[in-house]
Amino acid sequence: MTAPPADLPLDLPDAQLPGVLGAALAGLYTGQPRLPARPGGRAAGLAALHAWTGAGYRERNHLSGNVSRLSMYLRHGMIGIREVAAHARHVLRGRERDEFLRQLTWGEFFRLVLRQEGARVLDNLEEPKYPAHWTDALPDDVRAARTDLPCVDAWVTHLIRDGWLHNHERLWFAAYLIHWRGVHWRAGYAFFREHLLDGDIASNALSWQWVASTFSNKPYFMNQENIERFSGGRWCRTCTANCPFRGSYEELEARLFSGHLPRQSPASPGGGNPHRAEPAQEAEPAPIQPTGPTSPRVVWVHGDGLSVTDPALSACPDAPALFVFDRPFLSGVPIAFPRLAFMYQGVRDIAAARRAPTHARVGAVAGELAAFARAYGAGELHVTRNFTPEFTRILAGVRAAHPDLRVVVHEPERLTSYDGPVRRFFGFWKKVEREVLQGAPSPDAPRRGHR
Ligand SMILES: Cc1cc2nc3c(=O)[nH]c(=O)nc-3n(C[C@H](O)[C@H](O)[C@H](O)COP(=O)(O)OP(=O)(O)OC[C@H]3O[C@@H](n4cnc5c(N)ncnc54)[C@H](O)[C@@H]3O)c2cc1C
Repeated sequence: MTAPPADLPLDLPDAQLPGVLGAALAGLYTGQPRLPARPGGRAAGLAALHAWTGAGYRERNHLSGNVSRLSMYLRHGMIGIREVAAHARHVLRGRERDEFLRQLTWGEFFRLVLRQEGARVLDNLEEPKYPAHWTDALPDDVRAARTDLPCVDAWVTHLIRDGWLHNHERLWFAAYLIHWRGVHWRAGYAFFREHLLDGDIASNALSWQWVASTFSNKPYFMNQENIERFSGGRWCRTCTANCPFRGSYEELEARLFSGHLPRQSPASPGGGNPHRAEPAQEAEPAPIQPTGPTSPRVVWVHGDGLSVTDPALSACPDAPALFVFDRPFLSGVPIAFPRLAFMYQGVRDIAAARRAPTHARVGAVAGELAAFARAYGAGELHVTRNFTPEFTRILAGVRAAHPDLRVVVHEPERLTSYDGPVRRFFGFWKKVEREVLQGAPSPDAPRRGHR
């Protein structure tokens, strides 16, 4: 194991970012070093938020609908769920306003399921509701966007190029992979995690499970008519492929779920559950050079809180802060470079906005944090909670590496105050609807239906 490099510079202009960050993170990402399709950071997130008028959100299920594309900023805490909700309440009215706030609440719901279930969200939460015979690995033709189905190939191409897909494209792709190709949802989850700028455990794994029917009462699937309607005919009009989606819902249901699922091409070996991989052994952290005076407190900044408004950072404006690219995790889990660059841009904005030192390093997070606290002579480590299994593992590692360090955990921002058990979104929504909408729903608001 080579020693981790010293601190990453936090003043890299975008033009130098792929080269310098690419070299510092060599071996820890997939694809070529390049900038993300949308810039990361709080400034970019706020600009995107304020530029979004929401007009036409009513058509959100259509690919042409005016969805916000804020998910990557929300996922990394670059903008807060409450400020997004406040903006929506300000710019939207009636049904559109309610619909947007309900969608925003799906994210909170999934995070609460993750908090409740922990690492179990990476395995089937329930039995599939049909006789499923899934293979483990993503087929090569899917990964290469060479399925001969123009729509599927476009979804894969957009995913890799933009790091983002419309919700309906995500649903269609997930249904195609699981139900038509007979691939376990976990392979799709890993493919999305590799490329999505908004990829997280909660919304990603649980949405895949929702499609697969291991976290819902029935599998989600679509037909060609549905794709044509909501895509405005984009691919179907000129398509000459032997379309596997053609047919009525009844016909497709009989074909997909009553017998064995078709296998179109052999799957490549691999698969498994990379989140479960044991972290590789990591060398001792390289020496840390404090860039300020000693401090009683230091802050751990992680990928869910990449903004100066993060609760731990807000509580400790004068404390040195550390962000770590998690070398053992990234060594075992493929993540495309743009996502790492997106996160770097978030840390860079934090560094620019604070008067206290902010560092970014590459290494094993627990050891880096313990060494960082020692280098600054700190007795307290402040951090904002996230609900991932890694968070608990890393804090246990910090306590083992530095038993004298007091860990102070700040609570993350929430949209709702609900703290009970969660099971299905509809039941959750009924409990929080009035709080989220700040009153009764609009008379024309949707009651249930398509997610
Ligand atoms: C298979 C699959 C995997 C997914 N993986 C992720 C993921 O890793 N990360 C992620 O943030 N979303 C994920 N989603 C949910 C959803 O597709 C995206 O949040 C949404 O498309 C983001 O675009 P937007 O910001 O324009 O959404 P908008 O419609 O503008 O919604 C605003 C915000 O509400 C939240 N939201 C909206 N719809 C959903 C939803 N169905 N589930 C959860 N949150 C929602 C997001 O934070 C989003 O930014 C996944 C959906 C599917 C079907």
